[in-house]
Amino acid sequence: MIIVMASRKPEDVAYVVNRVEELGLKPHVLEGVEKTVIAVIGDERILQGVLALEALPHVEKVMPVLKPYKLASREVKKEDTVIQVGKARIGPKSFCIMAGPCAVESREQILQTAEFVKKCGAHILRGGAYKPRTSPYSFQGMELEGLRLLKEASEKYDLPIVTEAMTVEQVPVVADFADIIQIGARNMQNYGLLRAVGKLNKPILLKRGMMSTINEWLMSAEYIIAEGNPNVIMCERGIRTFETETRNTLDIQAVPIVKKYSHLPVVVDPSHASGRWDLVIPMSKAAIAAGADGIIVEVHPNPAEALSDGAQSLKLETFEQLMNEIKPLVGIVNRTL
Ligand code: PEP
Ligand code: MN
Repeated sequence: MIIVMASRKPEDVAYVVNRVEELGLKPHVLEGVEKTVIAVIGDERILQGVLALEALPHVEKVMPVLKPYKLASREVKKEDTVIQVGKARIGPKSFCIMAGPCAVESREQILQTAEFVKKCGAHILRGGAYKPRTSPYSFQGMELEGLRLLKEASEKYDLPIVTEAMTVEQVPVVADFADIIQIGARNMQNYGLLRAVGKLNKPILLKRGMMSTINEWLMSAEYIIAEGNPNVIMCERGIRTFETETRNTLDIQAVPIVKKYSHLPVVVDPSHASGRWDLVIPMSKAAIAAGADGIIVEVHPNPAEALSDGAQSLKLETFEQLMNEIKPLVGIVNRTL
């Protein structure tokens, strides 16, 4: 339910918040540009009781939220959510570039990549320390040492870090090092993990599950927000289809759909969506045209020797080419790099 307040006075809002809590429900106060609204979530049977609160003074109206995701929905919050991470901004008007290797492999590899992507204008450094691999015999990531190396690169080149936590146990250590925590595609419906990162106040990059619908993806965002963390960045990274030319199929339509139904920022991962380095530049351009708020791209100094995802990783000079080619397009859609 959404309670639209007629008054913005703190004492009036607090009064309604109390009444909601008395019903055993959880209020979320959202200060919009024009109005203050209180989104109420909880047991659907008790929620009906909220309708009666329309009679309270200072309440303009009470409306049900039609979408199954509530706090993630535009019905509850009309304005786009903007996520600020250091100097990086993820939201309308800007276009955020997250770049780096699939996995941190060595000190030299991450420092060299970070220096280069920073020089080209990237805003955030990506790199996995804990890697979700299909085979238990593949390289699993450098773990804690990988996080330390990421931090060194982050501090040296002034780039915030996005890196993945795969399990609830990893969340505290990853949160110690990361500026944005990635929830990988394979974990999009790991509800315990979603609840654990929902208790943090760090931004979360929520990758779309490769077999998940847009609705399921937004429901996963709802798990995080419902725990109290509103800083969710949606990441479209391709879904499984019958096509075999590419690793996945970039569902570019998901970008405007999510932006229509939700206030959350959306970024595109053209690397995992295609699995092919030669599609990364055209699909990054498609992301800009579709209205995405940024991209997350794999870059490696020597993709042929990468320990994971070499085939989809850009060489340093191809990343530079990407940045040069997208610059004018970002301007056309009234964003800045
Ligand atoms: C990654 O970012 O390297 C990764 C494993 O992504 P995804 O979860 O989208 O497959
Ligand atoms: Mn990867």
